[in-house]
Amino acid sequence: MTIRQYLTRRSDRYAGLAFVFLLVAGVVVGYAPRILAVRIVFAVLVGVVLAAAFWSLFEIPCPSCGKSMGSTGFWVSVGRKSAERCPHCDVSVDIEMPNRELKK
Ligand SMILES: [Zn+2]
Repeated sequence: MTIRQYLTRRSDRYAGLAFVFLLVAGVVVGYAPRILAVRIVFAVLVGVVLAAAFWSLFEIPCPSCGKSMGSTGFWVSVGRKSAERCPHCDVSVDIEMPNRELKK
């Protein structure tokens, strides 16, 4: 598995979790009392969770040096095909994952 595949897999998991959360939030809002304050609270909650999921893409740690990959992690996660590198250790995202991550 390359670092690029690792980043994509990770963002797929976040996207799946965000989708499940929205689904649950939608069902809960359907049963919630039709009060404006309740709806505002739900809207804010959904916004915060989505912002956190989005932000987490910037905080994915580099499997080589362990520092967050920043915009590189984000761009690779959303599928940009260009040859990206870790901003800290300059490792390419198209090399195989370092072995220590695979031993589980
Ligand atoms: Zn690195």
